[in-house]
Amino acid sequence: RAKREGKNDFRFFELRMNEDLIERRELESELRLALERGDFLLHYQPQVDLSGRKLRGFEALLRWPHARMGWISPMRFIPVAEETGLIVELGEWVIREAVRQIAAWRAAGLDPLPVAVNVSALHFANGRLVESVRAALEEYGVPGQLLEVEITEGAFLEDPEACARQLEALRALGVSAAVDDFGTGYSSLAYLRQLPVVGLKIDRSFVGSMDSGGEVLVRSIISLAHAMNLWVVAEGIETEAQLGALRALGSNYGQGFLFSRPVGAVEVEAHLARGPVALEVLL
Ligand code: C2E
Ligand code: MG
Ligand code: MG
Ligand code: MG
Repeated sequence: RAKREGKNDFRFFELRMNEDLIERRELESELRLALERGDFLLHYQPQVDLSGRKLRGFEALLRWPHARMGWISPMRFIPVAEETGLIVELGEWVIREAVRQIAAWRAAGLDPLPVAVNVSALHFANGRLVESVRAALEEYGVPGQLLEVEITEGAFLEDPEACARQLEALRALGVSAAVDDFGTGYSSLAYLRQLPVVGLKIDRSFVGSMDSGGEVLVRSIISLAHAMNLWVVAEGIETEAQLGALRALGSNYGQGFLFSRPVGAVEVEAHLARGPVALEVLL
């Protein structure tokens, strides 16, 4: 009997693997179609200066409204885009779209704040990143200071020197970089001294565990960052208690549902039009 159950478990496992594979294949072809049709959107999540209580900028996040499958989460389609290499094309679209949007805000007479885009490790490996950023800024006449990139540890694990070179080249365009999901990867801390980054983003898993003993980690990350002259964004702030604790620990910036979910371009315009008092309104 045990043997039969074991066998059934295995078949169940096989079936699940197949389903997974079919879903990934389907997502892959849907991704290609969506790229061709231009179905993707960017939403923007406000980042707030925790001492001045002002808006400091936005993070651009990919959104995929799918006619049949509804909104497909980046947590599902980014991994498929990475496996298939489509992430480079998708990333190029994100960069152009963010820069186009910044230019549109400027043309509408608004005073834009920096927009950070997420850049996949594979985009660094591909070698086209700097050129596409330069081309987009030039095409739309946008100063590089209005664009930022968020990179993960994966970007420099493979080839730290190539990564550093590209970040230097971006910096020369005025585009600064921050390390995303800091503390969740497996690389050594040594890279931090070699990489031209200006900030660290504390992963929301750490922020979420602050009231159950995780505060010591957040405190350590903030003091490490400050000792290295880097600013810190705490991600995933959902409660007043987390906000209070993060301010007390000296986190420079914050981002999370407490302030705002990622919103569409129209809502960003409302934020920008209100000017630097935005946080009062947000809270
Ligand atoms: P990330 O870059 O760390 O982005 C932050 C994620 O946390 C976003 O999820 C955001 O909606 C979510 N978030 C923000 N505040 C809160 C909060 O208070 N509570 C909770 N529970 N969640 C919060 P999203 O938009 O689903 O994106 C997930 C991940 O997908 C991103 O994590 C990023 O790794 C990836 N991603 C999204 N857009 C892009 C993109 O354009 N390019 C690349 N390469 N990756 C992207
Ligand atoms: Mg990010
Ligand atoms: Mg993050
Ligand atoms: Mg994350």
